Amino acid sequence: MPTILLTGANRGIGKALAETYVADGWDVIGTCRDTSSVNIKGVEFHSLEVTEPDSIEHLKQAVDGRAIDVLWNNAGVYLDKGKGLNQLSDEEWLKTFHINTIAPMRLASAFVDNVANSNNKVMAFTSSQMASIKRNGGGAYAYRSSKTALNMAVNCLSQEVASRGVSCVVLHPGWVETDMGGSEADITVETSAKGMKNVVDPINPKLQNSYNGLFFNYDGSPIPW
Ligand code: NDP
Repeated sequence: MPTILLTGANRGIGKALAETYVADGWDVIGTCRDTSSVNIKGVEFHSLEVTEPDSIEHLKQAVDGRAIDVLWNNAGVYLDKGKGLNQLSDEEWLKTFHINTIAPMRLASAFVDNVANSNNKVMAFTSSQMASIKRNGGGAYAYRSSKTALNMAVNCLSQEVASRGVSCVVLHPGWVETDMGGSEADITVETSAKGMKNVVDPINPKLQNSYNGLFFNYDGSPIPW
């Protein structure tokens, strides 16, 4: 069975992704900060604070030698929701970058060998359409800039790992009903998770040129940078 390692698997879109992969028979390694109160049938949970190098190293040792077909960096924050530039502190902006931009790249580095040793060889990153400069609606300085920077970093990574057969994709999950997305959102977590899984499922080294370094909506349509 293929294996996925998924961050932020305890709630929201990550939980729905975990459940969708379990339902499809995958081995699911889920991470969250507090494993004591989480229990999703079929998910092997490990504790991970994505900004802590020691926490990443601990997880790395726990999955040492295992092939990971899909590493999915999903955990993220939107700390400046509803805040203007003048209400946003440097600390919030830096924290947003740490969680949304830097941590996914550190995790990619930590697990690239596991991914390269798998069949599918995929690194997926949950970004956001709010990262798109072409579609920018303004505001949300920290969140938007952190996801735009994530997109650039993933595109850089896609060039570095291409020779190993690894494909890196960034995905917009839609506007989704979660704690982050709110109750007015367009789609359910199930629709988002199933849609994104359908986008990621066909990716393998033979189709690398059609996916590596690209930005997709949850329905598979391309999103402009
Ligand atoms: P939620 O707020 O519902 O869940 C966020 C997840 O990220 C939680 O599992 C949370 O864990 C985890 N997380 C946050 N900070 C850390 C950290 N420092 N270390 C480890 N885990 C952390 O968000 P969504 O499910 O809505 O969002 C998931 C992803 O989708 C995010 O990257 C988000 O930016 C993106 N996205 C969401 C959209 C939406 O409409 N919902 C739209 C576009 C993009 P914990 O429970 O411990 O806090």
